Amino acid sequence: MSNHKKYKFAIAGAGFSGAVLARELVTNLPCEVVIFEERNHIGGNCHTSRDKESGVMVHRYGPHIFNTNIEEVWDYIHQFCKMGTYIHQVKANTSKGIFSLPINLNTINEIYNKRLTPEEAKEFILQEIDSTIEDPKNFEEVALISVGKLIYETLIRDYSTKQWGCHPKELPAEVVKRLPVRFNYNNNYHKSKFVGIPENGYTNIIENILNHPNITVKLNCIASRNLTEEFDHLFYCGPIDKFYNYKFGQLGYRTVFWKEFIHNGDYQGISQMNYTEMNPEYTRIIEHKHFTPWENHEKSFCSIEYSKETTKDDIPYYPKRLKEDLVKFNNYKGHAIEVESKISFLGRLATYRYLDMDKTIFEAIQFSKEFIASLGSNKRPIFPNQDL
Ligand SMILES: Cc1cc2nc3c(=O)[nH]c(=O)nc-3n(C[C@H](O)[C@H](O)[C@H](O)COP(=O)(O)OP(=O)(O)OC[C@H]3O[C@@H](n4cnc5c(N)ncnc54)[C@H](O)[C@@H]3O)c2cc1C
Repeated sequence: MSNHKKYKFAIAGAGFSGAVLARELVTNLPCEVVIFEERNHIGGNCHTSRDKESGVMVHRYGPHIFNTNIEEVWDYIHQFCKMGTYIHQVKANTSKGIFSLPINLNTINEIYNKRLTPEEAKEFILQEIDSTIEDPKNFEEVALISVGKLIYETLIRDYSTKQWGCHPKELPAEVVKRLPVRFNYNNNYHKSKFVGIPENGYTNIIENILNHPNITVKLNCIASRNLTEEFDHLFYCGPIDKFYNYKFGQLGYRTVFWKEFIHNGDYQGISQMNYTEMNPEYTRIIEHKHFTPWENHEKSFCSIEYSKETTKDDIPYYPKRLKEDLVKFNNYKGHAIEVESKISFLGRLATYRYLDMDKTIFEAIQFSKEFIASLGSNKRPIFPNQDL
């Protein structure tokens, strides 16, 4: 590729990865970008739209709260939206009562029916945890040395079983060494420096990012490697195992699905209520109108969320990243690096990671810089730097 021509790039996927990359490319390079999106809307899994009956802004693929410690990303997103003030709080609904999450002094006092101070609660939890486990071998043991039996059994064991489709004993300990417990009354779910919900929803942000004369979006179009014949480069933000026709096997994901209903009034008084016991079988209920406390809606739109194993026909949501999955992914990655020169892989599905929106945006900006810098040579970056 010469540095004087006007490039033509194709991108698969109109989520945050594809949209931010497209915008960075057209801003910093003489080029045209065509985005191919297989769904009938932009926004990827962050897609939001208003429900006609209630007027509520609905997070169509699960609740999304924007939170970040990366100031550059917070500034970036503000070019394209106004962020509303929002503090995410979650409750656990159990047969023993309703408890606060994430686990904090409220939770401890509620569950044990006590009035402990922070210092007393620290002492108390030390006595509750299982001190016979020195080196936790699975997620159950991590929980038992962090919060003790009662909190583990009430809030973690069954919820995790429903979410991941297996008992915490079967989940690796490597994910976290200890579960965090707050010894204060802070119910704020996020610890990030910047938190908010876009006033006009996420799809509106993506629309604004894509609003550039050199960007075209084609909906209902599945992108494949054939595009490299017509375009100088293809950036693929879809599932990498599907791209290679599952030649090294299918990567493990959990998928989620929802049963939706309209309620007259306020259904649960909070945006997220987790159900942390085996009964009922759903994991949580999302009441979308609480994500926009600056709006007033008489009616309410709620989603009951269920979790299940992903088949080839389901939307992949949460990467399981078990040992065998990581072996498969490394096969795909190694193969791509070996054979591809006109295709790069970006985003949560192509790199098989759980990525929050802020990391997704940051990575797309960084990757565009790396790609543009590579135009002076004949070697393109195939994957982003995956240290995030
Ligand atoms: C339930 C849930 C809740 C979440 N909550 C939060 C949250 O609170 N805060 C947060 O920061 N992050 C959250 N996230 C993460 C967030 O969804 C991701 O960071 C973000 O969606 C990643 O964007 P992406 O563009 O990489 O992927 P996606 O949004 O998945 O976009 C990929 C797009 O590519 C399209 N596509 C795939 N293959 C092809 C193809 N061959 N041709 C054309 N198009 C194709 C898909 O249709 C899709 O639109 C959550 C994720 C989930 C699953």
